[in-house]
Amino acid sequence: MSRSMKMMDPDRRSLLKSVAMAAAGSMVAGNTSLPIVHADQAVRDLPNADGLTWNKAPCRFCGTGCHVQVGVEDGRVVAVAGDKAADVNKGLLCVKGYHVGGILYGNDRLTQPLLRNNGKLTAITWDEAIETIAQRIFDSPSTFAFYGSGQWTIPEGYAAQKFMKGGLGNNHIDPNARLCMASAVTGFLATYGVDEPAGCYQDLDECDVLITWGNNPAEMHPVLFSRVTDRRSRGETVRIIDIGTRRTRTTDAASDYLEMKPHGDVAIALGIMHLLIENDNYDKSFVEKHCNFRGAEASEPTLQGEQISEDDFRKRISKYTPELVEELSGVPADKIRMLADLFGNHDIRITSLWCMGMNQHTMGTAINSMVHGVHLLSGHFGRPGDAPTSLTGQPSACGTVREVGTLAHALPGGRVVAKPEHRQQSEAFWNMNPNSINAVPGYHTVKMFEQFTKPTADGGDITTMFVQVTNPGQTLPNLNALFNDKKDLDDKFLIVSDVYPTATTELADLILPAALWVEKNGVYGNSERRTQQWFKMVDPPGQARDDCWMTIAIAHKLFELGYEGMKDKDGDFIFAVKDDEGEEIPIWEFEHYYATNVDKHLFEEYRQFTTMKHKNLAPYDEYVKARGLRWPVVEQEDGSWRETRFRFSAFDDPFVKEGQEFDFYHSSSEDGRAQIWFHEYAPPPEMPDDEYPMWLCTGRVLEHWHTGTMTRRLAPLNRAMPTAYVEMHLEDAKAANIRQGEIVTIESRRGTCELPVWIDGRGRPPRGTVFVPFFDETKLINNCTLEAHDPFSKQPDYKKCAVRVKKLAKVKS
Ligand code: SF4
Repeated sequence: MSRSMKMMDPDRRSLLKSVAMAAAGSMVAGNTSLPIVHADQAVRDLPNADGLTWNKAPCRFCGTGCHVQVGVEDGRVVAVAGDKAADVNKGLLCVKGYHVGGILYGNDRLTQPLLRNNGKLTAITWDEAIETIAQRIFDSPSTFAFYGSGQWTIPEGYAAQKFMKGGLGNNHIDPNARLCMASAVTGFLATYGVDEPAGCYQDLDECDVLITWGNNPAEMHPVLFSRVTDRRSRGETVRIIDIGTRRTRTTDAASDYLEMKPHGDVAIALGIMHLLIENDNYDKSFVEKHCNFRGAEASEPTLQGEQISEDDFRKRISKYTPELVEELSGVPADKIRMLADLFGNHDIRITSLWCMGMNQHTMGTAINSMVHGVHLLSGHFGRPGDAPTSLTGQPSACGTVREVGTLAHALPGGRVVAKPEHRQQSEAFWNMNPNSINAVPGYHTVKMFEQFTKPTADGGDITTMFVQVTNPGQTLPNLNALFNDKKDLDDKFLIVSDVYPTATTELADLILPAALWVEKNGVYGNSERRTQQWFKMVDPPGQARDDCWMTIAIAHKLFELGYEGMKDKDGDFIFAVKDDEGEEIPIWEFEHYYATNVDKHLFEEYRQFTTMKHKNLAPYDEYVKARGLRWPVVEQEDGSWRETRFRFSAFDDPFVKEGQEFDFYHSSSEDGRAQIWFHEYAPPPEMPDDEYPMWLCTGRVLEHWHTGTMTRRLAPLNRAMPTAYVEMHLEDAKAANIRQGEIVTIESRRGTCELPVWIDGRGRPPRGTVFVPFFDETKLINNCTLEAHDPFSKQPDYKKCAVRVKKLAKVKS
């Protein structure tokens, strides 16, 4: 946190005070929407920084999971430093991480529950808020949906999961991570039978070649990318190959840039596999011992697929010659040969890295599976530096969504609602009556919002939705259909818990003020299977409260109303926590919530599930001592706990069978083997044409985290990147007589968005393509994007749809 923030001049202070009072005044007056106050308008001043106490926490932003030291004085976070003792970041932070403490102190923090009455927001008590929610659920439990997040802590997600699937018997719970990494999950499941990367960040220190597949880690995971580029400054050689649809800051550091057409990654992966087979240059020994070949079934394809012979695989892949791949992907045939030669060389180590570019894709599962396939076929797997690794955008997309299983079809510990034995195991762990859990998967995100925004009379069977720790009013694709249509539906009720006013609170009927980051206890799980814990360090402002408490308080209100599902087999409340004398602690009353460590109770309960799929976690207290541990974490003979860096490889993974070098012990073919998939290339769901002649790709920027709800309250970041923009190629701009900074309208078949033009900016798209970041709530590019989604993962494609660009007017100075 900068010293300039602490030493604010009196004029600025009085300006801030007046802005704050204006904001507060408009709330009291009952405005229909809340004012959003950006950092440049107001930041609370901070006390002097002497006599700090420091404690550890993971960063609140991306899935890298950097550890920070948080300095607290007089009940306020006043300083943040990189944590030198942390393996992930070794003391480094990116520009967002250095400012993470300031996210608590934006001047428009939500501080009291607000109910919309006749279009106006009115302050109500927490008791009234909890009563209102519980009564709506009680009246119609099956039409309630819970929409959560990869920013949920593990205990928050676990509580929401148990509340819905165990307590209500309702599977309509899904997270925003459906929009960002669901295809990575299905890619791992289809290949290894179990989710999450086998490798870890150490691969970045050890690889000879790093391939970024439609990925821009220089901006999205900057601390990780610096682990690679710093090696060069130490004299090491590492070749970075950037495969992308536009030049980015990652391209600037790359040795090779292969520019592909949207959807071209599928053809490239097929082309590499074709050449490895054709040139007889694949790792026959590894494939023979450890892999099967798999193809999608002709009808009703599944993640199991059908087993095919190596000959069949050879036949199917034979048409993907470098020349055909060049035609499909736009990448020259000799570059495809170059990639195949690299994979054919076993003397080097290759790490593949990807994130939203591969996941937000109507062939997301296919391309994820086939990049794994390229590594398996070539034997570039299972040695440090040789790994296919997906990254996550949110701090606990792995820990909470993937491991706790807060998805419409899942249960904790890799269980699924559709399997009777999995339901029975979960009911037993939860001490619940048989058949508490509904066997039918709930609605995935796109379907959930379709059902919420469709009139009830027309079959829109979600009537109440609770959104926690996320901002779907900005992030959903095709916003007009999936979110804005809620506006005119009086019987639909939207509950939003957040820390600031957002695009989602604009339409909320009930707004709940939430505690943020170190205002509560928490546990996150990052992209390399690392589970990290922190303690509450400061109080939340006003009446803001923990999301986990909200879930438990609603559950208890239902228990009081006599809702049977909120009782376990013994008649106890499903979230009952007892003290040493066996007396129940009333954790549903906020004044008693911190009488015990609720996180620890929930974590220890959840830990039982983690052994079901070899994702073993250590006891909570081990995470208190450590800067995170990568699962599986197993107890040693001396009673200590050991983490695992590389899964499925005998040298590091304790679950590999004796005598095996590799063991895919959750193989979907039940023979210890991984699956090498073939998927036929298919064109994108919408292509540019005469009417909408350009591609639109959306994404993120270095300074802002996702929808900017937190980073836009940080003055240095908001000043550095104050507005969204559209990147255009100079020749496209010239042809349309558009100049730098002029305002254009981006139009798709679904909606429009007005933006200033940036030519030769930070990112440089090729001709025929425009790029727009989605962080700016005043420029909602998701009015234009497509809700078409991958058939397996249900993840929408934000990276390619057809638009036209129209010039509007010059920027006002
Ligand atoms: S935003 Fe991500 S890369 Fe930056 S400090 Fe936080 S966790 Fe690390």
